[in-house]
Amino acid sequence: QTGPLFPALADPTDAPAVRFSGSSHDGALTHRELARVADGVAASITGLSRVAVWATPTLPTAVGVVAGLRAGVPVVPVNPKNGERELGHVLSDSEPEAVLVAPDVELPSALDGLRRIDVDPSQVPDTGAGTPGEEPGPDAPALVVYTSGTTGAPKGAVLSRGAVASNLDALGQAWGWTGDDVLAHALPLFHVHGLVLGTLGPLRRGGSLHHLGALTGKELAAAIDDGATMVFGVPTQYHRLAADLESDAGSAAAVGRARLLVSGSAALTAVDHARISALTGHSVRERYGLTETLILTAARADEQPEVGTVGRPLPGTEVRLAPLPAEADAPEGAEEDGLGGVEVRGPGLFSGYLNLPEATAETTTADGWYATGDIGRWTASGALALVGRKATDLIKSGGYKIGAGEIENALLEHPGVAEVAVLGESDEDLGERVVAYVVAAGEQPDPAELVEHVVGLLAAHKRPREIRFRDALPRNDMGKVQKKLLR
Ligand code: ATP
Repeated sequence: QTGPLFPALADPTDAPAVRFSGSSHDGALTHRELARVADGVAASITGLSRVAVWATPTLPTAVGVVAGLRAGVPVVPVNPKNGERELGHVLSDSEPEAVLVAPDVELPSALDGLRRIDVDPSQVPDTGAGTPGEEPGPDAPALVVYTSGTTGAPKGAVLSRGAVASNLDALGQAWGWTGDDVLAHALPLFHVHGLVLGTLGPLRRGGSLHHLGALTGKELAAAIDDGATMVFGVPTQYHRLAADLESDAGSAAAVGRARLLVSGSAALTAVDHARISALTGHSVRERYGLTETLILTAARADEQPEVGTVGRPLPGTEVRLAPLPAEADAPEGAEEDGLGGVEVRGPGLFSGYLNLPEATAETTTADGWYATGDIGRWTASGALALVGRKATDLIKSGGYKIGAGEIENALLEHPGVAEVAVLGESDEDLGERVVAYVVAAGEQPDPAELVEHVVGLLAAHKRPREIRFRDALPRNDMGKVQKKLLR
C-alpha cells in the first residue's frame, strides 16, 4: 500500500460515504463530511498507542474506526456483547488508552478506568485541523481484532494497514468493486467481515456503505431500490432472507436488481444457495477467510460460481493443501478423497497475535506458510471446497478421515432437515463415529431415513451412526455453530 488508506477521503467529494438505518445511532455522511468528522475525532486521539472502539453497529462506530486509522492509532474493536470476563481479557491484553463510543451509551464497569471519548457525528466541530499529516506505512498496525474464540480463548490478531489495503484491493478485482458501488449489509462491526470488508471496504473502494438494522427482505429490497448494488451476509442471514423472499415476490424482484450477493464467515448450504438463486436470479458468491488472513479465496463476480466451493485464491494470495498427518491405525488403501490442510501465503496475512509470540509461531509452518486449521480439497476447476476445521470437523472413523461439512450438506438436502451439525464422538470400535445433531423442518423425520439418504449420496462409511434431534443449534454472532457446546 502506498498513499492513503482511503484515497477518497484524502480528496473528498460530496458523494455518499456511510449511511446507517435501523440502529440506535443512525445517520448518513458524505465523503467530505466523514473526512471532517473523523479528522475532528482523530485530533483528540493523535499520539495514543491504541484506542478501543465500542463497536455497536452504528454510525459513531464507523466514524471512530476511520478516525483511528486517519490518526494512525491502532484500533481495537470491542464486541459490545462480550461478557465481563471477555471484556477484561481484551482490555488488559490490548491496553487501549481511550474508548471511542456513541453518545448516551452506558459502558459496563469493566471499562471504568478508561478515558471515554464520545463520538457524535452531528456535533464534531470543524477543528480546521485539516487532513492529518503523513499516514503510517503499510507495516504499521491498523487493527487488533479478537477472534471470537470458537476454538479457544480470544486472541488479538494484529492486522497491518498494508494487509487491509491489499486485501480490499484484491476483492476490488475479484468483484469489480468500485466507487460506484453501494454495499448493503447488517453485519456486526467488531468482526473482520462487517468491519474490514463491510465498512473499510466501501471506503477504500471510494463507494459507500448502507448499514441496515437487519437483513430482512423488506429492508434489503428498500435499500436496493435506493441504490444499493452489493450485499454481504453470513449464511444465517441468507437463510432467513430466503424465507422472507419466499413470501414476498416484490422484495425478491428488488433483491434481484442488485449486482452481487456475497456470503462468508461460514458455509452457505447448497439448499439456501438454490433458494436464493430461484428467488432472485443471483448465484451467491462465497468467499473464505480468517481474521488472521483476511480473505483468501472468492468466487468471482464475472464467473458462474461452483456451488459448494469458496472460489479460487485472490490475486496475490497463494493457497496450498498440505497432506494430513497419517493415522497409525489406518487400514491399507483408506482413501482421503484428496483432503488436505489449507495453508496460505500472501499480503493479507496478520502480523501476529498481540502478546503471544508462541501462539503466532504455532500457526506458521517451517517454510513460512500460515496453517489455517481448515481442511479442504481442490475441485477440477481449481476452486477450493472446504469440508471443515481440523479441530472440530475432521472425523477419524474406521481409518478414514471424514469432513463433517460434506455430511452436513448431504443431510441438508433432505426436506425434513432444517439445520444440522455433524461431529465425531469417540467410539471403541471405529475410533470416532459420526453423530448428527439435527433440527427438524416441521415434523421430525425418521432417523433411519436420514441415514439412508446420506448413504444414497455419499460413501457408506460416512453415514451418521446416530441422529440426535434438537430444537436449535448453539450459534455465535456470525452464525457459526458452536460445536464445543454441542459436545
Ligand atoms: P475462531 O477462530 O476462534 O473460530 P472466529 O470465528 O472469530 O474465531 P474467524 O477468523 O472469523 O474466526 O473464522 C475463520 C473460519 O471461518 C475459517 O477458518 C473457516 O473455518 C470459516 N469460514 C470462513 N468463511 C467460510 C466459508 N465461506 N465457508 C466455510 N467456512 C468459512
